[in-house]
Amino acid sequence: MKIHLEDETKLSGKVLRYISEGAIVLDKAWTIRYINKLALQLFRKGKTEVLGKNIWKVFPKYKLSESGRRYQLAMQLGKPDHFLTQDIKKQKWFAVDVFPVDASLIIFFRDITTYKNASDTLSKNERRLSALLDKSWSVTTLVDRTGKRLYTTSSIKKVLGFNPRDNIGDDAFTFVHPEDAERVKKIFSESLKYPEKVFTGEYRVKNKQGEYQWLEATLTNMLNDPDIQALVVNYHNITSRRNIEEQLKKSEERFRTLIQQSADAIQLISAEGRIMYSSDSIERVLGYTPQEVQGYTGVPYLHPDDAPKFYKAFSQLLQNPDKTVTLEYRVKHKNGSWIWVEATGKNHLSNPVIGAIVGNFRDITKRKQLEQQKDEFMGMVSHELKTPVTSLKAFAQVLQRQFVEAGDKNAATLLGKMDIQINKLTSLIADLLDATKLDAGKLHFHEKLYSFNKMAEEIIEEVQRTTIQHKISITGKIQKNIFGDRERIGQVLTNLLTNAIKYSPKAKKIIVHFTATRNEIRCCVEDFGIGIAKEKQQKIFERFFRESGFMEDTFPGLGLGLYVSSEIVKRQGGRIWVKSEKGKGSTFCFALPIRKKQ
Ligand code: ADP
Repeated sequence: MKIHLEDETKLSGKVLRYISEGAIVLDKAWTIRYINKLALQLFRKGKTEVLGKNIWKVFPKYKLSESGRRYQLAMQLGKPDHFLTQDIKKQKWFAVDVFPVDASLIIFFRDITTYKNASDTLSKNERRLSALLDKSWSVTTLVDRTGKRLYTTSSIKKVLGFNPRDNIGDDAFTFVHPEDAERVKKIFSESLKYPEKVFTGEYRVKNKQGEYQWLEATLTNMLNDPDIQALVVNYHNITSRRNIEEQLKKSEERFRTLIQQSADAIQLISAEGRIMYSSDSIERVLGYTPQEVQGYTGVPYLHPDDAPKFYKAFSQLLQNPDKTVTLEYRVKHKNGSWIWVEATGKNHLSNPVIGAIVGNFRDITKRKQLEQQKDEFMGMVSHELKTPVTSLKAFAQVLQRQFVEAGDKNAATLLGKMDIQINKLTSLIADLLDATKLDAGKLHFHEKLYSFNKMAEEIIEEVQRTTIQHKISITGKIQKNIFGDRERIGQVLTNLLTNAIKYSPKAKKIIVHFTATRNEIRCCVEDFGIGIAKEKQQKIFERFFRESGFMEDTFPGLGLGLYVSSEIVKRQGGRIWVKSEKGKGSTFCFALPIRKKQ
């Protein structure tokens, strides 16, 4: 507000009465010569209470107050003064203008409480904002159109080690890595062309210690904003993120090389069976490049005979994410030959990182050929052995009879013992022959309707004759006739009984349990012998599995009997299992479906 105080006429009550401020005129003796209406209202006084009175008498508290002191000083020095003050109760703020004019003092004051509060809040917000910027892990820098630094938030200290005022006025590109400088400058000049457009980028700058740090930055041209008039750069340090990314990239590369160099072909397959990825090594195995099989659904050139078991294994994989499924099957190599592969698959579909079935497979053709040669050889050997042993048995029996007739008891007994050994040999050879036939798919079944009970009783009687120590007893009875291979099932029961005898050298009894349900018959052979440890129980049905190993002669055998038995039972549509406790005994059971005819 400007009032020409020199013109004394303007001080007339008329003017002062209508101005929007409180006004008081004092003479040299501090007598109130004039007071306007607004001032009276502010002081809550009547005109007669104050006019012509000494101000310090009317407002005694003011004399020693800051305002009072400044009035006196203004009067003394003849100098105008302007200041802000609060009322006694500290509820209101006033802006006060004091003008000494000749021998008097004119005081104007106006209520600025609302304005003061608003500006207080404003500066509080401003303080908050700058605290946010300073405490933040991101730095904001303002630069001019030439790239000169105008202002930087103090967070730069934390991020790059510099003091905010260190590089003001410097070229903002000085510390940028030479390899990134050109790119950064290009973005900068682009930004000059497009006000308010946000540009982003990653680049390296040197920190106070001279080490390059990776920054992720945004750049916005705010030159046209009258409040800013600068380009705003905001950045944060992403060095550790870049380092992690770098390491990840390296380890990914390492694994990729490992996969590519591996002898196994590795594939990622979708839930629909589509090949999403193949390692380069697939070419070594199949002759096809990864690109040639990419997107193919199923196994390229799968042997038609192996397709059913392949799709069965695949659906097993889909249903059991925790299971690793292994399978051998044939595929056609690019060169047209059939090769055997062994594949292992695991379902990682629900793993967000992989999201596929991981399969790896290798060429096992050579191994398969060797196995086949070995099987053929075993088949040939056992076949060749069978004929002389059969003749040997026949001759031994004839000789034994002759010695009995001639009354040579000693020789007859010896020949009887020889017969038992020949029987063992015959059964070993039979097992070998059966096993090779099974593997070659040449074990044939002669099925007919027969009485299980009768067959079993015959076998039990036969086996009972080979042991004096063990007494074989029977519980239950199977009335029904069943359809299947009588001889082969008899062979299974013989095997279980001879094992029961062999593996219970100290026991005296063996119990055979017969039960039948509507759909199947069950036969269990219970012994009280050495038993089988839990972890071995599944393995004993595998080919060549023997707990004691081949070289130990405590319990001689080839480890084929249970393998042949279980294959026979399975091929007859049944199940075979064992319950056993180490040191207490075992119960081997098999169940067969009751079929009328196939
Ligand atoms: P073999 O008896 O010729 O070794 P099998 O296939 O009949 O071969 O049996 C495999 C293995 O299972 C045996 O070596 C033995 O360790 C174990 N086994 C079989 N039957 C019994 C049993 N009744 N009690 C304890 N162990 C048994």
